Formats: sequence, C-alpha cells, structure tokens
Amino acid sequence: MREACIEHGVDKVDAICLTHAHMDHVAGFDDVRRFNTINGGVPMRCFAMRETIEQMHRIFPYISDKKNEMGLFRPMINFVDNAEPFTIGDVALERLEVEHSFPCCGYLLTAPSGRRLAYSSDCHVLPPQTIAKLKGVDHLVLNCLRERFHPTHLSLETALGYIDEIKPGDTRLIHMCHDLSHAEWLKRLPDGVEPAYDGLAIEL
Ligand SMILES: [Zn+2]
Ligand SMILES: [Zn+2]
Repeated sequence: MREACIEHGVDKVDAICLTHAHMDHVAGFDDVRRFNTINGGVPMRCFAMRETIEQMHRIFPYISDKKNEMGLFRPMINFVDNAEPFTIGDVALERLEVEHSFPCCGYLLTAPSGRRLAYSSDCHVLPPQTIAKLKGVDHLVLNCLRERFHPTHLSLETALGYIDEIKPGDTRLIHMCHDLSHAEWLKRLPDGVEPAYDGLAIEL
C-alpha cells in the first residue's frame, strides 16, 4: 500500500471500504497510520461487514480508535458496520452482497451527478438481488481471475455472463492472475470490457 500511494500520488484518504479481510487486500493496513497523521490524528472511518471487522481486530490486535499519547504508532480506525447505506463526502455508498466461498461484499457508489459505479474485487457468485441493483450501472469494476474455472473467483466465461445480464456502460476487470498478459486479455474481451491497470482513475 505504501509503494502504491507513493507511486500514484495518493496524499489524501477520506475513508476506507473493506470488501473482506484476505491478506492480499489488507496486508498494507498498518500504513493507514500515515493518513491518520495527515488527517490531524482523527481516526479513519473504515466501513466493513461485521464479520470482517472482527477478523481485522484478530489480524491487527493493536488497532485503536484513540489517539495514543506516544504518537501514531498504531492505526487509529473507527470501524463502521456497512449493513446500512452510508456517505463519504458527497458520494452515497451501499454494500453489495456477493459470494466468495463465504458472504463477502462489494460496493455501489452513486455520485451527486447520479452516475453509478459498482465494485466487486473478489467473488465467484453475484446473487440475483445484487444483479438487480446493478442493472445499467455506468461503470462496473469486476474481478475475473483467469479463463479456467476457479472455485472462489470469477472465471472469464462467468464474468462475461454477468456483464451481459447487467449491461453496464463499461466494465473494467480486476484481480486477474498471470495466466494472460494485458494484450492477450484485450483480444478475448468484447467491446466495452477492458482489463484495469494500476493507477487507473474513473471520474464519476
Ligand atoms: Zn479474497
Ligand atoms: Zn483477493
């Protein structure tokens, strides 16, 4: 996380939305301390499912929500259960239920313009109620691990099936493994579907 923030000039973080507590998504959590300092010692709001919050406390037992007299040597986090819709600045967010061999979540963001972006980093099933919420979303960011079947991630055929049902304005695939290069992905994907890349910014 530290290297990604430096490389892409991320110098402001308003809040964090966790999808789940697998290590490929939370290993950099300790570096939230730097943003605590930048934000003047205010605990960072971190939205997550109740089960994920419990797991984060087990993985990082030293997380605190209080400013420590000895300085910011531990992440100061204000965890918030994401069961209810919430806002970060002027963006409205709601959790999307997905299956990742266990109940996991993605997020649906709605900007003041009314434009919507849906994000699901890890899942192998989008339940019908989630598909219904995503119909016609402007931007879909969806995991697609590889062409071959995988028990806990979307494979290409399944991902394209969901995209066909949802009919988003455009789709960016994320969380791909190294079976295919970026150029090979482009050859396999229909119009409106592209692999994402580090540093990609989408303006709503
Ligand atoms: Zn995962
Ligand atoms: Zn993952």
